[in-house]
Amino acid sequence: MIPYESLKILNRPFEEKLKGKLSDFLDKGWYILGEEVAAFEKEFALYHDEQYCVGVANGLDALILALKCCGFKPGDEVIVPSNTYIATILAIIHCGLTPVLVEPDLRTYNIDPLAIPDAISSKTVAIMVVHLYGQCCEMDPIMEIAKDHQLKVIEDCAQAHGAKYKGKLAGTFGDFGAFSFYPTKNLGALGDAGAVICKSEEDYQKLRQLRNYGSEKKYHNGVIGYNSRLDELQAAFLRIKLPHLDEINQHKRKLAAIYFEVLNDSFVKPKLDEDYYNVYHIYNILHPERDKLKEFLAAHQIATEIHYPVAPQDQVALKDYLQHFDYPVSANIHQSTLSLPCSFAHTEAEIRHVADILNQFSS
Ligand SMILES: *Cc1c(COP(=O)(O)O)cnc(C)c1O
Repeated sequence: MIPYESLKILNRPFEEKLKGKLSDFLDKGWYILGEEVAAFEKEFALYHDEQYCVGVANGLDALILALKCCGFKPGDEVIVPSNTYIATILAIIHCGLTPVLVEPDLRTYNIDPLAIPDAISSKTVAIMVVHLYGQCCEMDPIMEIAKDHQLKVIEDCAQAHGAKYKGKLAGTFGDFGAFSFYPTKNLGALGDAGAVICKSEEDYQKLRQLRNYGSEKKYHNGVIGYNSRLDELQAAFLRIKLPHLDEINQHKRKLAAIYFEVLNDSFVKPKLDEDYYNVYHIYNILHPERDKLKEFLAAHQIATEIHYPVAPQDQVALKDYLQHFDYPVSANIHQSTLSLPCSFAHTEAEIRHVADILNQFSS
């Protein structure tokens, strides 16, 4: 059986160091907001050649706290891609803001910059881009639109640790880069974790307050805050894995290159483009008979996933929150996308086998 993902195998190379950290942690007896969180924040900022990073509890909170920092008014509108994972839209709703969905470009799966201007109204305050599947959005035109309309830009980087557009890292284009370190992400903790990268000292201080009950000084609360701290132990684990992020990404890119080379043209594969350093958080293909293909692979002992089976416009939870429910590009992707095994835990031989089996599929 070739699993879609195996966290146990994925983390095996780090096991000795992780155990060592746990034992140091027990010796130290400092569990919340300690040296490990501070050191990880510094190292993660440095990886991005940025000054400010604040560790938070998870990726959803990273998005919520970034939005909270902006001080928007209830009912202000935030532009977001129609095919994102629901977390991005939930963050907007939790902040009392209105999500305005914009269709993706079918060639990149990311928000179509040409479709953004039509979605801008007098209430629009921000664009929340999502670098989906590990490929950056087309940031040049997006940043230009944001500048022209004085909109904040928040990047959902939960699937794009180390991804680049024209040599620049995801999370460094906008006002905020929000990250998740959910265990399956390219940089994954051993539990929930997240972080926000920001550009200004003011936002940095505000984020630090917001994640810790609105408090700057113990028992002095300046703003209505949250409890959304990055766990000290998870920060310690992340510090072990961060130096290997590039190696993890390179491995995934090598596997993706095998699919690109071997898979026949009945499958729509992610396009190669020099402007984009895709880190393939998810390697997806499109096929008109996706469900049949998924069953065929399962019969050949190959596990796959669907990201995602239900589009935001079809989610029961969002039925009172969207302006309309007709997003054909997104609907098309949700009906035909299939995610193939492509993780740090897979070997090149396994991926060649998966690709060979795929080529045997005839609809
Ligand atoms: C995983 C993910 C999130 C949420 O991260 P959590 O840590 O699970 O809260 C947000 N956006 C996208 C695109 C994701 O893939």
